Amino acid sequence: MKVIIGAFAHESNDFCPNLTTKDMFEFYEGEDIFPQLPVSDIFRDADIEIIPSIFAVAQSYGPVEEETFRYYENKILDVARATPDVDGIWMFCHGAMNVENIGSGEYQLAVDLREVVGDSCVISFGMDLHGNIEEDFSDYVNIFRCYHTAPHTDQVDTYRRTAKALVHYLEQGYKTKCEMRKIPMIFPGEMAATTVDPFKGIIARMKEIENSDPKVMCASTFIGFAWTDAPRTSSTVVVVPSAPEYLQYCSALADDLADDIFLKRREFDFEMLALPPEETVKTSLFELTPPVCVTDMGDNPTAGTTGGSNVLLRNYLKYSDINKKILIVGILDQDAFAKSLDHEVGDTFQLSIGMDIDEVTKPIEVTATYRGHHNIYGYNIETSPPIKRCEGVTVSIGNIDVVITDKAYAFTQEINFKSCKLDPRDYDVFVTKFGYIFPELKKMGNSFIMSNTPGESYQMIKSFDYKKIKRPIYPLDDI
Ligand SMILES: [Zn+2]
Repeated sequence: MKVIIGAFAHESNDFCPNLTTKDMFEFYEGEDIFPQLPVSDIFRDADIEIIPSIFAVAQSYGPVEEETFRYYENKILDVARATPDVDGIWMFCHGAMNVENIGSGEYQLAVDLREVVGDSCVISFGMDLHGNIEEDFSDYVNIFRCYHTAPHTDQVDTYRRTAKALVHYLEQGYKTKCEMRKIPMIFPGEMAATTVDPFKGIIARMKEIENSDPKVMCASTFIGFAWTDAPRTSSTVVVVPSAPEYLQYCSALADDLADDIFLKRREFDFEMLALPPEETVKTSLFELTPPVCVTDMGDNPTAGTTGGSNVLLRNYLKYSDINKKILIVGILDQDAFAKSLDHEVGDTFQLSIGMDIDEVTKPIEVTATYRGHHNIYGYNIETSPPIKRCEGVTVSIGNIDVVITDKAYAFTQEINFKSCKLDPRDYDVFVTKFGYIFPELKKMGNSFIMSNTPGESYQMIKSFDYKKIKRPIYPLDDI
């Protein structure tokens, strides 16, 4: 038997003013995709031949340019066209790719793949729980299951479960579909961490079903992605049967799960202390045990923002002469980055920080001392080797050290800081552009604030001007 494997993933923020283009995707093809997708052994152990397609994954940003989507999609379709006897397809797709003039990228890919490979091929997708799933997605994809963690720490487990499910279907000759239910609710990711209830309890039930119910292969809940404005934007529950005869059983289970999750909608809230910017600054400096980790939730590049907000810098500058050490990483500003690079380490000079593209990037004039230039490394999944993500310069403004980057990037891993020769533990407060407190951030901080800052990933989603989302939906509507 033969399977095609690959990854094509993006989380598209409709409120980001720019499109995601071809060169923004990290791209591998052929056998070079294997280190990124640790599933090959599962197929090889089952004597299934693996046909690699592509790995094309970009950091969250604005909607994907149509031409870019077609470029990568055609590479996958070409592999499928060249493999007419393919038995199965396994892909990692995010679930929140929104394509200019098209809509859901995953849905379009599934529809187009199905047209090429026909009904006899079994398609399995591993996905991100921030996906917005089209109503009839299960007509095209037999098996799909998303992460059980947010912040995400089970990518590899999700890949492998969906790959194993595909092998199971292929070995048994099953071509059944799964059962999915749309749930009329949507939350920003930071109000739906799996580390606290109600999502923690919901996931515990999914795990219990997967581990102990022999009729179910996979069970998962997509919380959805609030910053895509589309009719499909909502939560979704999906149950994959372990055999076709359990489809009816899984249908009833999906109804029950969807009802249970919707009943808990009013319990969703922030995982940690969440404060507006000014309160964040005062509380982090004077009330909590250092080091205090602060996340700039409104400008979270992993949710598709521009990465250039200087709102928290502006607020901390009011305290730049007190005896506290503050670190802010990393503000995107290519001009400030380039201007700093013109200097020698130790030089002090006037610097403007802020790209001036919207309210949260209005320039701030400061006197800065240049500390150094670094390549910043990070990894996709813990088992894949770190790669260069962007470059950064460190400047000191009084007691505040700031890393200015040449690309939008969220520091969430210790290796990001180490790349800049910085240790957050040396500071009273460190600020990163992210939403919830990623596990590696938890290790570096003693106290935590999720700062409810303005920006394209602003958590107060009721303030966005949604036009296409299907109403009514909680909490935009009081249902
Ligand atoms: Zn996600």
